[in-house]
Amino acid sequence: AKQRAGSACEFFEPRMNVRSRARLEAEQSLGRAIVEREFLLEYQPKFRADSRKLCGFEALVRWERPGLGRVSPADFVPAAERTGQISALGQLIIDTATQQLRDWLDRWGLLVPVAVNVSPLQFDDIGFADRLLARLDELGLPHQSLEIEITETAAIGHLGRVLPQLQRLRKAGVLCSMDDFGTGQSSLTMLRQLPISTMKLDRSMIDPLPEPQASAIVKATCALGRSLSLEVVAEGVENEQQAQAARELGCTQLQGYHLSRPLGAVAAGELLGRSLA
Ligand code: C2E
Ligand code: CA
Ligand code: CA
Ligand code: CA
Repeated sequence: AKQRAGSACEFFEPRMNVRSRARLEAEQSLGRAIVEREFLLEYQPKFRADSRKLCGFEALVRWERPGLGRVSPADFVPAAERTGQISALGQLIIDTATQQLRDWLDRWGLLVPVAVNVSPLQFDDIGFADRLLARLDELGLPHQSLEIEITETAAIGHLGRVLPQLQRLRKAGVLCSMDDFGTGQSSLTMLRQLPISTMKLDRSMIDPLPEPQASAIVKATCALGRSLSLEVVAEGVENEQQAQAARELGCTQLQGYHLSRPLGAVAAGELLGRSLA
C-alpha cells in the first residue's frame, strides 16, 4: 500500500507543482509590481453628447513591466482577482486616482469627476467604502469628484457585499456607473437594485449604429435611463456617425477613440485646464 501511495505521488506531484509554480510566479511578480508601483493610470475623457465639452475621465490601469513593456489590464486584472491581489492593486489605483484629482484641483481650481473601475472582489473587504470616503476626506476632495464603475455581471455574484457598500457610497455623494450595460443577463433587475447614477452602454451596442435595429435598442435604453434620471454614456464611439447617432438616440455622454484615446496624466491635465478655461 505504501508503495502504491508513493507512485501515485510521483505521478501527481510534478503536475501539481507545475500548476502551482506558474501560479506562484504570477502571484510573486504581481505582488512585487504592486510593492514597486509599476502601475500607472491613463485617463480617457468623456464628453457631453450635445456640447462635446469635457465632463469626466475614466481611469484605466496599465502595468509597465521593466524590460517587458506595457501589459493590458485584460491580461493582469483577472489574474489579480484569482490570486486575491486585486484588493491591494485596487487600493493602489484608488490612491493614484485620488492623488491625481488633488493635483488637478490644486493646479486648476476646478475638477471633472474621475471614474475608477472597481472589481466586485474589492467589496469583499467590508471596510472598502469607509476607506474610500476617508481617503477623499483626507485629501479634501468633494465626494462627487470620484465615480466608481462596476459591471452588472460582476455585481450580481457579490450582491450581498456590494449593495450595502454601494448604497453607503451613493448616500455620501460618490457617483456610481453600471459598466458594460447590455452585455449582462439581468440588466433590468440590476438597474432597480443598484443605486447607480450612470449607465454605460457597451461598445457592442454602439458599434453597429446607425443600423436600424441597434438604433431602436439604444433609443429604448436611453429612454429607460432618462426615466430613471440616469446619465447614459455611449462607450467605444469610433466615428462621427456613431457619435451623432448616439446623441440623437438620447445618450448624454460620449466616450471612445473618435473623441479621445486614453491619455497620460500630463495630457489629461492639459485637456482639463483647456476645458475649464
Ligand atoms: P472597460 O472598463 O469596459 O474599459 C473600456 C476599454 O475599452 C478600455 O480598454 C479602453 O481603452 C477601451 N476603449 C476605449 N474607447 C474605445 C474605442 O473607441 N474602441 C475600442 N475598441 N476600445 C476602446 P483597456 O484600458 O484595455 O481596459 C480593458 C478592461 O480592463 C476595462 O474595460 C476594465 O474592465 C478593465 N480595467 C481597466 N482598468 C482597470 C482598473 O483600474 N481596475 C479594474 N478592476 N479593471 C480595470
Ligand atoms: Ca469601465
Ligand atoms: Ca465598459
Ligand atoms: Ca469592458
